[in-house]
Amino acid sequence: MALSGLDIYKLLPGGQKPPHPKANCKECGFPTCLAFAMKLAAKQAELAACKYVSDEAKAKLSAAAAPPIRLITLSADGRKIEVGNETVLFRHEKTFFHPAAIMVRVPDTLSAAEIAKLAKAAADYKVDYVGMALQLDGLAVEAASGDANQFAEAVAAVRGACAMPLVLVTEDPGLMAAGLVKTAGVTPLLCAATAANWEAMAKLAKEAKAPLAVRADSIAGLAELTEKLVAAGVEDLVLDPAVRSFSGSLQTVTQLRRLALKKNYRPVGYPLITFPYLGISDPALEELLAGQQVAKYAGFVVLSKFDPAMIYPLLVLRANLFTDPQKPIQVEPGVYPINRPTADAPVMVTTNFSITYFAVANEVESSGLPGWLLVADAEGMSVLTAWAAGKFDAEKIAKTVKNTGIAEKVSHRKVVIPGHVAVLMGELEEELPGWQIKVGPREAVDLPRYLKTAW
Ligand code: SF4
Repeated sequence: MALSGLDIYKLLPGGQKPPHPKANCKECGFPTCLAFAMKLAAKQAELAACKYVSDEAKAKLSAAAAPPIRLITLSADGRKIEVGNETVLFRHEKTFFHPAAIMVRVPDTLSAAEIAKLAKAAADYKVDYVGMALQLDGLAVEAASGDANQFAEAVAAVRGACAMPLVLVTEDPGLMAAGLVKTAGVTPLLCAATAANWEAMAKLAKEAKAPLAVRADSIAGLAELTEKLVAAGVEDLVLDPAVRSFSGSLQTVTQLRRLALKKNYRPVGYPLITFPYLGISDPALEELLAGQQVAKYAGFVVLSKFDPAMIYPLLVLRANLFTDPQKPIQVEPGVYPINRPTADAPVMVTTNFSITYFAVANEVESSGLPGWLLVADAEGMSVLTAWAAGKFDAEKIAKTVKNTGIAEKVSHRKVVIPGHVAVLMGELEEELPGWQIKVGPREAVDLPRYLKTAW
């Protein structure tokens, strides 16, 4: 049962009678104990921030202070992934903390050489997206053969080829035990416990100190299983809602997330795992369903195969969803030389919002024309937004020109400003005496033509 802000306040130093000497001391970062209590109730603060809570109160508060979605960690040879700990339904309410782990299925029916090749390709896959390195998170080894030795050998082949976190997929406790033998150095996710096998799976999970996924096709079924497993001593759980259709999956995962966050219903307060290929033969539909599940609300998404054409869009979607909306993606302000510029190459100014920077830099780079890109610190905003917010004005641009030392790198005194801020031209001429201010195009895509014709 969730505690209200006032219930919590009564257990904090300020709510006691007589009040604790440290009441309202602000050391938690909030102005009063009541303000802190309200944040705790909203899951936007950690109880550990107050050092003056009694042990007795701590015990009572633990349920209210615990994250509504349990944090689950998988690891392999020091590389780890964490999912869970989410506190909001929608990213704009605060942020999402742990990106959905995107993993690739490895059926044990492949040969050892094929498995090693697949595992290595998945582990080595890395793409650069606006300065971020995007990559896969792990592999889901599936006991598709039904043979214990074959499953164990498949796990061994994956381990021999890479150090990625693993999910072991089988409902057969005998096969799971065989696979676990080959997981030294790994904390895998065991998938899955069902109504038929949960006691044996619980035993394996406890022995391996590994999290356990729970599979059922209804919310009631999932909750019943997690309650039994918690009572049996397995607390690190993941839910596999075995509802595979587009609408069924969306409806079920949304209800699960709402129950966990809004009703604080502990039996479903765990991350989710999904298998978007189950029941689907068209890879395009698999990708669409995976995209839906990355957005809502999977913690682990297992894809049917390693296919960069499918993986790249999902990684980009995930990067955009799991970026903190209050912290724009930024690049370092400064001078960026493109295509080995010489002293007569053009100087162009833009802002340090990553997408703006990469749009401009990519256009200049792919044109083959050399240039100096001056990136102003506009607090990670795009050109127009920064201009409207007063973060990209004549003074800021002039400061960037002066502080970056570009004058020593070029033999001319011309600087191109984005067409969207042409209005700054006059003011900038006053700020930068001796410099000629040129107004470039509004869109980055028009820069190559501008550089060829107007520079
Ligand atoms: S740290 Fe915060 S909650 Fe704790 S006593 Fe001080 S003001 Fe109150």
